[in-house]
Amino acid sequence: MSVLVYTESWEGIFRKSTFEAVSYASETAKLLGTDVVAVSLGEVSDDELSKLGNFGATKVISIASVNKGDSQGTTNAIASLSADAPAIVFSNTYSAKMIAPRLSAKLNAGAISNVIEVASNTSPFTVKRKAFSTKAIEITTVSSEKAILSLAPNSFGLRETAGSCSIEKSDFSENGIITIEGQETASGKISISEAEIVVSGGRGLKGPENWGMIEELATLLGAATACSKPVADIGWRPHAEHVGQTGKAVAADLYIAIGISGAIQHLAGVNSSKVMVAINTDPEAPFFKAADYGIVGDAFEVVPKLIEEIKKIR
Ligand SMILES: Cc1cc2nc3c(=O)[nH]c(=O)nc-3n(C[C@H](O)[C@H](O)[C@H](O)COP(=O)(O)OP(=O)(O)OC[C@H]3O[C@@H](n4cnc5c(N)ncnc54)[C@H](O)[C@@H]3O)c2cc1C
Repeated sequence: MSVLVYTESWEGIFRKSTFEAVSYASETAKLLGTDVVAVSLGEVSDDELSKLGNFGATKVISIASVNKGDSQGTTNAIASLSADAPAIVFSNTYSAKMIAPRLSAKLNAGAISNVIEVASNTSPFTVKRKAFSTKAIEITTVSSEKAILSLAPNSFGLRETAGSCSIEKSDFSENGIITIEGQETASGKISISEAEIVVSGGRGLKGPENWGMIEELATLLGAATACSKPVADIGWRPHAEHVGQTGKAVAADLYIAIGISGAIQHLAGVNSSKVMVAINTDPEAPFFKAADYGIVGDAFEVVPKLIEEIKKIR
C-alpha cells in the first residue's frame, strides 16, 4: 500500500527534482496514511540512496541491473513493484515523459502530468496541474484505482525530514528492446531546468559576440545561461539554451531576462520562476508586466554595472 516514487539519478547522483518528487510522495503518503517506497534504477551508492530518507522515503529499492535509458525496461521494473501502490510519483522530466505513459497503459492507471499541488482528495485522486502552457490551471480527477502523478519541477519544493530509509537491493533484470550504446554530456554547464538562477539573453543583445557579459554575470551568480527562441534559431546560442513554450521550462528562484521582449510564448516557459527581473530599453516591453523588478535601460550599460557591483560585494 506504499506510495511509490521513481528517483531519477544522473551518473549516480540524485537531482534536486528527485528530492522534490520524494517530498511530494511523502505528503501524498501522509494523506493516505501510508509510507513512501523509492525506486532507484542503475548504479547508485548506498550513501546517495540513503539521502532519500531525508525527504520522507522509508525504504529504497535499488535495481542496479536495469538500464535507465531503456524506457521499456524501466517501465517493467517500476510496474513489478507497483501492485499495491495507490499512487506512483515522478518528477515531470524527459525520462518521466517516456515512462509514465507506458506505465499508465500497462497498469490501466490514470496518469496526470505537470501536477503542481498535493491532492485535494485521494478518493478519487484530485490534483491541480498546469495547462495551456501555464496559462491555466486544471483540476483533474483520476477514476482508476491507481494514480500516476508527474510533478512539475520546482512547483512543490523540498521538504526535509529527520527520517532515514532502509535499502533493499533487487536483482530484477527484465530489460526491454532498447540498448543505449553510449552517452555524451552536451555541456558541463549548470542545467537550465535544475538551476536556481538563470541569466537569459534575447535579440536585444544584437549578436553572439556580446554574450561575454551574460556568461560573466551567470558565472558570478552561479547561474545557468538561457536565451529566447530567435536567438537560438539564428544560431547565436545553442538550441539547448532556448527557453519558452517550445523550449525548456524554467522554474528558477531568479530569472533575469536581458533584451527579451516578453512574448507570451517566451513567458509561458519561464513564468513559474519565483522572481523575474527584466532589463530592456523599451519601457513598454511586455516583460515589464510579468516581471517582479524591471530596469529600463541599455543592457550594454546595465549589465556591466551589475557585474561590477556584484564583484564588489563578493
Ligand atoms: C508557435 C510559437 C512558439 C514560440 N516559442 C517561443 C519560445 O519557446 N521561446 C521564445 O523565446 N520565443 C518563442 N516564440 C517567439 C516569440 O513570439 C518572440 O518572437 C520571441 O520570444 C522574441 O524574442 P526576443 O524577445 O529575443 O526578441 P525581440 O522580440 O526582437 O525583442 C528584443 C527586445 O530587446 C529589447 N532591446 C533592444 N536593444 C536593447 C538593449 N540594448 N538593451 C536592452 N534591451 C534591448 C527590445 O526593446 C525588445 O523588447 C514562439 C513563437 C511562436 C509563433
